[in-house]
Amino acid sequence: MDETIIKELISKSVSAKKHAYCKYSNFPVGAALLCEDGTIYTGCNIENVAYSSICAEQTAIAKAVSEGHTKFKAIAVSSNQTENVISPCGPCRQYLFGGDWDVIMTKPDMTYTMMKTSELLPLGFVQNPFLPTAKK
Ligand SMILES: [Zn+2]
Repeated sequence: MDETIIKELISKSVSAKKHAYCKYSNFPVGAALLCEDGTIYTGCNIENVAYSSICAEQTAIAKAVSEGHTKFKAIAVSSNQTENVISPCGPCRQYLFGGDWDVIMTKPDMTYTMMKTSELLPLGFVQNPFLPTAKK
């Protein structure tokens, strides 16, 4: 992955974090998702009073998929609430579908660790191709 694109994704994830609606957790997170065609979608975490929420990664994926994108190259995730790299939660790891691609997990100082989706979710649930499909 080109370092220029990595830096751009990190920068966009930091910007997206500013829109986080997280007054219950006070844990803003931003994400920037690079689609296969070069389009970038950003996302932030969104919470509500009933304590349900969607994560920044899920917001970015939802925006991309709802615009017709299902092939991805990378996602950057940022937060300033931990000194360690911010890493996707369990449900988000399952959300990062569509093959094996890069997850850029940042620290507040903008340094990062990059791993593949398959490394973050080994043995993730995949549809069994031998199960009967929906009725036609
Ligand atoms: Zn999550």
